[in-house]
Amino acid sequence: MIRVETCRVLVLLLCLAWGAGLVWAETPIFHPRTLLGGEYWGTTAKEGYLNYLGAVQPDLIHGSLLGPELCSSVYGAGKLVGITPVYPPVGTVKEYLAWWKNFNAEAHQRGVKVQGTFSLTYVWGDQEKHTGFFKYYDDLWEADVLGPKPAPTPDAFLRVDAEGKPVHDKYNDWYTYSGCPNNPTWRQLLKQMVKAGIDAGFDGFMVQFPYFDGRCVCPSCQAKFKAFLAANYTKEELANEMGIPDLAAHKFTIIGSPEKTTPSTPAKPESKEAMYPKLDLAARRFGAISIKDCFDDVFVNYGRTLKPDLVLSMWTHFRQFVTEDAVNSDFNNYLDERTLLPIERWGQGENYLWYSSPMYKSDLKNGVLGDSALDGRVLRAMAGDRAFELLKYDYFRWRLVTAESLAQGGICFGAWEGGWSGGQDREQPNHLQSYYQFIRDNDKYLNPGQRESYADVAMIYPRQAILAGDATFFGPFRDIGRALLKAHVLFDVIIDQKMTDADLAKHKVVIVFPSQVTEAQRQLLSRYIKAGGKVIVHDAHLVDGSLNLEGDLSNREETARKITGLAGITFSTFDAPWTVEVYADRQPKKNRVLVHLVNFNRDESQGNKELPLAAAPVKMDLRLPAKFKVSGVQFLTPEVKGAQKVKFTQQGDRVQLTTPGYLVYGLVVIQGR
Ligand SMILES: [Zn+2]
Repeated sequence: MIRVETCRVLVLLLCLAWGAGLVWAETPIFHPRTLLGGEYWGTTAKEGYLNYLGAVQPDLIHGSLLGPELCSSVYGAGKLVGITPVYPPVGTVKEYLAWWKNFNAEAHQRGVKVQGTFSLTYVWGDQEKHTGFFKYYDDLWEADVLGPKPAPTPDAFLRVDAEGKPVHDKYNDWYTYSGCPNNPTWRQLLKQMVKAGIDAGFDGFMVQFPYFDGRCVCPSCQAKFKAFLAANYTKEELANEMGIPDLAAHKFTIIGSPEKTTPSTPAKPESKEAMYPKLDLAARRFGAISIKDCFDDVFVNYGRTLKPDLVLSMWTHFRQFVTEDAVNSDFNNYLDERTLLPIERWGQGENYLWYSSPMYKSDLKNGVLGDSALDGRVLRAMAGDRAFELLKYDYFRWRLVTAESLAQGGICFGAWEGGWSGGQDREQPNHLQSYYQFIRDNDKYLNPGQRESYADVAMIYPRQAILAGDATFFGPFRDIGRALLKAHVLFDVIIDQKMTDADLAKHKVVIVFPSQVTEAQRQLLSRYIKAGGKVIVHDAHLVDGSLNLEGDLSNREETARKITGLAGITFSTFDAPWTVEVYADRQPKKNRVLVHLVNFNRDESQGNKELPLAAAPVKMDLRLPAKFKVSGVQFLTPEVKGAQKVKFTQQGDRVQLTTPGYLVYGLVVIQGR
């Protein structure tokens, strides 16, 4: 996590000196720390928004709607709506982009970048009634802004069923149609719209609706899916397990098995294997790759030839994943559009990773914090050096949203007014302004590029199980993670496919879910045990010396006791209520350890208000890195100006201290000599 990611940007230096010419220069990739966006743009901006931006100074905002969605509704002058209202309510793409060009310039003057939201697939309208996108395309197309039409009619690029008819779904008075991401003509259309957006001064695009549901069986999809199957599966697998004896002659009526609606077979408890139909798993893998190919072709490869520093992200989702209230352990119900990509393509080319999750709500009297403690840790481990945001649709616990993101090293997110935002106390600019200023003032501690997770325990996330269509580990993963959280054990996540000796060596204990562990990973774990590490395996024996965690895991206190007992070491301890979550980071180059305290306690009696309740001082006994000698401890919190000095006692490799009280977020800075 320490390495600063860089990209090669072609810079033409006009220089009179000998040897001048094309020069490759290293330019850091833009990773936003603060972001105002999400679906707040679902309502129109209010007067004074630019002043608000100037005061709060987010690194980046989402604004506008571009691309196919805009063409569906722009001519209605604000009255027609795909998903997002057209703002400003003008009547042509030309006027719309001219307005945004001015807005973007104003935002840039305030140090704020603007990403236009851009539909990758969806358009809206009614083809029979010739409305929405169809009317715009046929009658109103603005070639002076968008270039020539890439095809005479939309039939050339929309996704089509086995009878060649456009696939569509009811949406209010219209239908949702979709361009096919595998169709070169659709990609050409997107490219022309990308160019128009860049010309209007947008810094980049938040690419929405990255969906492929298998219903398009156009010639491009047929041919590409066949090539994918031939490259990834044997003839025997195709014939015996997928029902395709002759791939060349096969005609798909859907990308997947024809009875695709059949739910996957539930896992047998004794086998611990999920039996997701092989052809459907192949179809989901293919869908993820099709979307990624389209994104790369249009935005990364083409867009960045026009603007090398184009800011890109894709709007993807976590559904039925490892959130606090999810109970799913069935792959069929689990949604994450990127999850089946080969790991080297996951998020590749994106400035930051964005996941929209279900709405997070606290229900403290029933023991629910409404946190993103597990999915956030998995996302951090996947993202590595890159920025990431887990959108919680939590538009009134904004200080808490910021605090949790700071602790996880993610992007701090805010919204401003609007129907989705709900809250009231959040909407005074002073609040986000003061928190974002706190982030900037303490960049040397909080910059995610300059810190790495520091934890006693690592949970190994078995991504290979997901690639095999097996989500049965979700249950024990949630149980163990929740047990560690409740016991305030410092833990993080390692992705099985990225696991190295060095990653393991940073932890005292690793917890492994045994499905799909490779021989190379067994060897890594064996070496780790020989070096003194403890490997705890959920309900299995894996390698010599591994420890078996078995039995019912649903009782969190009991599960934490079992893990502590198996580990046989004293973890760092924190004397804090269950409503406080603890994270720690290291800054090896600065010889620092950071402890983040996130306080979820609040008065829940009034809807749409955050009303945090201050946390008591936290007494901690922290295990320090080897040979670490503490020279001083400070405490920072956004509500108190400046750093507060904290007394400490070091005994061997442990330091004891008690923090001051704080409201929502507290940062303990432990400086080494
Ligand atoms: Zn297609």
